[in-house]
Amino acid sequence: MDIYTMNSFDPDLIIESPGRINLIGEHTDYNMGYVLPTAINKKITFRFRKNKSEHICKVYSKDFDKSLTIDLRKVVRSITEWENYVLGVINEIQKLTDELRGFDCTLESTVPLGSGVSSSAALECGMAFGLNQLFNLGLSESDIVALSQKAEHTFVGTQCGIMDQFASVMSREDHVILLDCNTLEHEYIPINLEPYKIVLLNTHVSHNLASSEYNTRKMECEQGVAILKKKYDTVGTLRDATLEMLKTVKDEMDNTIYKRCMFIIEENERVMAMTKALKENDLKTAGKILYDGHSGLSELYEISCPESDFLVNFSKGIPGVLGARQMGGGFGGCTINLVHEDVVDDYIRAISAVYYEEFGLRLTSFEGFPSKGTSIIYKK
Ligand code: ADP
Ligand code: MG
Repeated sequence: MDIYTMNSFDPDLIIESPGRINLIGEHTDYNMGYVLPTAINKKITFRFRKNKSEHICKVYSKDFDKSLTIDLRKVVRSITEWENYVLGVINEIQKLTDELRGFDCTLESTVPLGSGVSSSAALECGMAFGLNQLFNLGLSESDIVALSQKAEHTFVGTQCGIMDQFASVMSREDHVILLDCNTLEHEYIPINLEPYKIVLLNTHVSHNLASSEYNTRKMECEQGVAILKKKYDTVGTLRDATLEMLKTVKDEMDNTIYKRCMFIIEENERVMAMTKALKENDLKTAGKILYDGHSGLSELYEISCPESDFLVNFSKGIPGVLGARQMGGGFGGCTINLVHEDVVDDYIRAISAVYYEEFGLRLTSFEGFPSKGTSIIYKK
C-alpha cells in the first residue's frame, strides 16, 4: 500500500496517546522511588484498521513521512530508531498472545520529539493500547504499561523506568499521579494551580548524551546501592536509603557516586514535599521545590546543560515566576515553569529574546494541561 492510501484510509479504530510532564521526581523511577507526573494535552493520534493479511502490517508516521512494513513472523530490531518503538511493542505483545494479525496504522503527533515530554512513551503506549483494542487481546492497562517499558529496554536500548508509560496510560484530567515506582501504588492528586500556569519552554537542544548518560546514571546508582547495602541490609534500592545512611558511607564511595545518590534521596523527598504543597495549595513552596530540583539535577546528578541552566536562572529574576526546572531525562528538552497568568506572555517574550541572544536558538513554548491518559476516540 502506498503512502497516499495510508494517509486516507477509513479506520476501524482511533486512539490518542499523550505525552507527559513530571512536576518533580527526576530519575527516581528506575531507583524505585516516587514521581509526580501527568499526561498533557499533546498527543499522538493513531488510526488503525485490520488489513485482512495474516502477517503483514504497515505503520506510517506522518511526522516523519516514513512507513514501515512488518512481517509478524519475523519481528527483529531495526537500524532505524523510530521503528524500534513500534517493533519492540509488537515483539512484547507476541510474547503474551498469538492473536495479532495484519493491520495498517497511521500516526500523527503534536508531542515535541526528544524534548522531555515523552513522545516515546506516547508512541509505545498508543501502539500497544490500539492493538489491544483492535484484536481484543484482553490486556490490562498495567500489561500495556509494562510491555511498553519493556519494548524500550529490549528494542530501543534505553533502560527507562516505568514513569513515562504509566503516566501516558493512567493519567486523569486535572490530576497528577503520585506513583510509587516500586509497588506501582498510586494516588491521584487534584491539581489546581490558579492563577498560575504550567509553561513548558522547549530549549530545542538534545545533546545526544541523553541515552548513554541515562544508562550511566542508572549504573552509578546501582554502585551506590551496592555500597549502602553492605552496611544496611534494609537498602534494596535508593528509595530505602536516607541522607544519614548515605553520610556514613561517604568515605567508601567515589564522590561522583555520592552525589548521584544524594540527588536521588533528596529528589524522593521533594516528591513528597511537592505532594504536600499541592494538597495545601501552597504554590510558593511548590515553585521553590522546582528550583531546588533543578539545582540538584544540575550540580549533583549533572544532567543539565548550559541552555537549561540559563533559562532556569533567568526565570529566577522574573516576578510572577514561582519556579522552574529542566524536565525529563536530561541535557536539554523542556523546562517546566510555574508562571502567574498575568505575566505569561511577557515572560515568554522576554526569555525568548535573551535565549536567542545567548544561544542563537528559537525557544518555543506551550502550556501544559494535566490531561487524561491513552484513550479510544473512535471504534467502529
Ligand atoms: P522523548 O520521549 O522525550 O520525546 P526520546 O528520545 O525518548 O524523547 O523519544 C523520541 C523518539 O521517539 C524519536 O526520536 C522517534 O524515534 C520516536 N518518535 C516519537 N514520536 C514519533 C512520531 N510521531 N513518529 C515516529 N517516531 C516517533
Ligand atoms: Mg522518551
